[in-house]
Amino acid sequence: MDGLLISADSHVAEPLDLWTSHLPEDLRPLGPRIEMRDGAVCMMVEETVVRRFKVGGPDGDAGGDAGDTGDITQAADREERSGMASMGASDPDVRLADLDSDGVWGEVIYPNLAFFCGYRITSPTLQVAVCRLYNDWLADTFIGASERFCPVGMLPALDVDASVAELSRMAKRGFRAALLPSHIDVRPYNDPAYEPMWSAAEDLAMPLCFHAGTGRTQTPAHGPGGAVVNYVITVSGPMETVTYLCASGVLARHPGLRVVMVECGSGWLAWTLHAMDDAYREHQMFVKPKLDELPSEYFRRQGHVTFQHDPVGFRNIEFTGDRCLMWGSDYPHPEGTFPESREYLARQLAGVPDDVARRVVRDNAAELFRFAVPVG
Ligand code: MN
Repeated sequence: MDGLLISADSHVAEPLDLWTSHLPEDLRPLGPRIEMRDGAVCMMVEETVVRRFKVGGPDGDAGGDAGDTGDITQAADREERSGMASMGASDPDVRLADLDSDGVWGEVIYPNLAFFCGYRITSPTLQVAVCRLYNDWLADTFIGASERFCPVGMLPALDVDASVAELSRMAKRGFRAALLPSHIDVRPYNDPAYEPMWSAAEDLAMPLCFHAGTGRTQTPAHGPGGAVVNYVITVSGPMETVTYLCASGVLARHPGLRVVMVECGSGWLAWTLHAMDDAYREHQMFVKPKLDELPSEYFRRQGHVTFQHDPVGFRNIEFTGDRCLMWGSDYPHPEGTFPESREYLARQLAGVPDDVARRVVRDNAAELFRFAVPVG
């Protein structure tokens, strides 16, 4: 694969003590934190276990106390980072060197554990504070460090007014995209309450990105086959998100709004577009609102999906078009393509026409996320 690559799906490794160090004291006990639970070191938010670490807690202290919190937080932080393909994910200079060695020019950057913390929260007040702290850290670390980075700030969607305010604050700080959970089960995305948020994102030309695996547990299944069941459930979750946004008229009412389903593969998209249109036509008597066009047309115009490795998606371009497809490396996650992104892509792109390949690995992301890609 010749030419520049842009990864539309990469991650930071945010410090795990970010919230315990900076949240207001009244929110700290329920905010994201490292605690002992059932003898294991866990990342908690409210009473939800977000991540269970393999590191042992302090000897003889299954309950943990204030004196040990810093130690177990650091141990958890070390374990989390040691599982990644690079230890430098949150150091802009190391990150750029990694990108260079991987042959990737630019990247769109999502959280690591922050989005599991932020989007499992039930308290709107806590979510607003957690998202703002993360966005400040992200901006301080990456915005201005290089034009090759497009960090994505988190919206506290349980509070729509706060999300509108955060969108405008983020735009002023130089963010070019915003993150939402794939699912909000207490108030799905067809709820009219979200209208001001869709309008604000549209007015600010801020694409809204829905990263797979957020807003619900990633491990609903246990027992035989659980790992495979959980993966397939998680990456097919955006079928729902896409359908909510298209069928409810959100995309129709906001023609300038762009939406991205992240790290979900792309093979399911063709059938989902077909199924939406089929339902719209065949169940006409039940369908509301009526739309000017078929639901799939709105996604083809305003929607995108990212994949690492999905040969099925390339076979389906006759149904989806190629404007909606974007490749992502998932750097620095161990399941990502770093440091062999070009080799992975060479295999996937065998037989794909050059102009299609260029859009999928660079041009679509460059346009959507407003990267100043060097000419050539
Ligand atoms: Mn990702």
